[in-house]
Amino acid sequence: MSSYVFAPPVPVAVAVRGGGLFAVRRVFCVGRNYAGHAREMGGDPSREPPFFFSKPADALVLDGAAMAYPPATGNLHHEVELVVAIGQGGAEIAEETALAHVFGYAVGLDMTRRDVQDEAKAARRPWDMAKGFDASAPIGEIAPASEIGHPAAGEIGLEVNGAARQRGDLADQTWPVAGIIAALSRLVTLKAGDLIFTGTPEGVGPVVPGDELVGRIAGVGEVRTRII
Ligand code: MN
Repeated sequence: MSSYVFAPPVPVAVAVRGGGLFAVRRVFCVGRNYAGHAREMGGDPSREPPFFFSKPADALVLDGAAMAYPPATGNLHHEVELVVAIGQGGAEIAEETALAHVFGYAVGLDMTRRDVQDEAKAARRPWDMAKGFDASAPIGEIAPASEIGHPAAGEIGLEVNGAARQRGDLADQTWPVAGIIAALSRLVTLKAGDLIFTGTPEGVGPVVPGDELVGRIAGVGEVRTRII
């Protein structure tokens, strides 16, 4: 019998409100999902199909922990997002039954090396090093859908050092959660433990070491981190 040549990593796990741990498998993110943010990024706000990118599971930063300012950027941006936690997997999931696959929801930050992303876009290269770097995904505790339901409207916002930076409403998502799950499950087979960051409203901007970030979504919860 073969044994591991080094100890396999312990799964990254996010606390569930009320108790328990959600072991994370993969982290998917939706590119543009609010017209206001699509416009501020110079994109087309029309209802084109959602597109996806990924972050490694070990890029998650658990609620309240500090986030180190990453190397290789001079323009680190915040993007506050509703995060969907998949509890029941599936492929080619119908939009009508998609919400039954959701375990719960959290508030997350899709931290972005905007300068690296701009260079990648211009050169038609992948976004991985702009989006999937170490500590690029702070996340708050997961609120079970059995307790909060499936939030489709309500304020989503982010404060930096107590000042409002981003403010939007979940009702303005181009693709609601059910549509995102349906689209993503046509590309990959979803499994329990997968997370989906569902895109950010307008107002993204830079942060620097020392900044305190608080993201909130009405009816879901919050996420806190400090840049060090
Ligand atoms: Mn994003």
